[in-house]
Amino acid sequence: MFGRKKIKVRLAPSPTGYMHVGTAQSALYNWLFAKKNGGEFLFRIEDTDIERSTKEYEQSILEALEWLELKWDGEVVHQSKRRIHYRRALEKLITNKKAFWCNHTKEELEAERKEEEENKQPPRHICSCKSSSAFGRHYPASNPGQNFILRLAVNEQKITFNDVIRGPIEFEASLLGDFSIAKSLDEPLYNFAVVVDDAEMGITHAIRGEDHISNTPKQILIYEALGLPLPIFAHLPLILAPDRSKLSKRHGGMAVADYKKDYLPEALINFLGGLSYTFSKEIISREEMVKEFDLTKVHKSGAVFDVKKLNWLNSQYIKKLPPKEFKNLTNLNISDAAAALITERLERLMDAQEFSYLWSEPQYGKELLKWKNSGFEQVKASLSRSLEVLKAAEMSREAILAGLEKLSVELGNKGLVFWPLRVALSGKEKSPDPIDIALALGKQETIKRIEKAISLL
Ligand code: GLU
Repeated sequence: MFGRKKIKVRLAPSPTGYMHVGTAQSALYNWLFAKKNGGEFLFRIEDTDIERSTKEYEQSILEALEWLELKWDGEVVHQSKRRIHYRRALEKLITNKKAFWCNHTKEELEAERKEEEENKQPPRHICSCKSSSAFGRHYPASNPGQNFILRLAVNEQKITFNDVIRGPIEFEASLLGDFSIAKSLDEPLYNFAVVVDDAEMGITHAIRGEDHISNTPKQILIYEALGLPLPIFAHLPLILAPDRSKLSKRHGGMAVADYKKDYLPEALINFLGGLSYTFSKEIISREEMVKEFDLTKVHKSGAVFDVKKLNWLNSQYIKKLPPKEFKNLTNLNISDAAAALITERLERLMDAQEFSYLWSEPQYGKELLKWKNSGFEQVKASLSRSLEVLKAAEMSREAILAGLEKLSVELGNKGLVFWPLRVALSGKEKSPDPIDIALALGKQETIKRIEKAISLL
């Protein structure tokens, strides 16, 4: 667009755990915003915390994004490969006296914190090393030694920003103290690396979880100290458990990879999209979401993770799956009719196992064949008559239904016809209509199963 900066957003996960649903939702909203505005969705791995970051977590995050088909633009950026950039930025701050080395010991800082706590003051360190004489003493341009860390020289001021979702937010800089930005020139701390990266990647909008709101004032001060323009900030509401506590595994808030066995990516995308945004309809494709998405309309308050809703959405997407695709996904070697019978009724893919009678002979006790207080003889007679119907009828719903209904009238008891037939075909008390099962099994298998039930009686 002429005269306007190209919109660039990013997902910047730390590979210190598997990707959870909150990060997936951030990815989706960033992606929607980029698509809506003809911008770019970039991807950065924040792996500066060497001890807690692993390649395995990184790989799982990449796979989760690929599974959800949230494609990022360009190469994956790794913080671990950008140390030189952080070093340069740190040196610049030292040269401009915006940052200084502090060698207060752990014990000194601990004592200070305790005193602050006792006096009900905010925990912060306003550092004496920043005063000019101390600057002189502790001001080497390179790493001075193990006991030093780099701090930003923070002046008293109000820090304000206009959050796209939450409106104006104000912080008091003095509450932060002279916070640390690096352990050494080669060990930048989290907030510092984020600012250097976002600035160098040309990020125009930092859209991220609300849990990062407390980092924003620090990041703003770092931008200002480096003389860099600020991005626009937008903090997304958190995803909560039904009791509004932090979402955990217990509530169904699993790692994204865990959803793969049960859910279709489109269903999860639809669900996550609608969690913190009101789209015009409940079942909505990502393309339709792009058209409607307006960052200013993302909800402010936390969204409750409702697994029932997710399951319902999933069932709607499963219903639309062509039999072939369903069979590929579940690795089931069944007829198209059997696949359709399952997809009509499934909430989660793994539950397809409940329909195992469609591909393997059911096991059941003969007691189950009994309808209410009928005796075995009556059941046997009914099944023998059903067998005749099934043998004679053409394999269509209408033909089988007509035959079985006629039989029900003759025997004066519909249950006595349909119940034993259901059990003979499925081995279950609850199943889809036995006629649908017969159609899915085919004539030969249906006959075989009824004969087997008769032989049990
Ligand atoms: N690395 C942070 C996280 O995994 C995200 C930082 C950001 O988006 O600014 O939560």
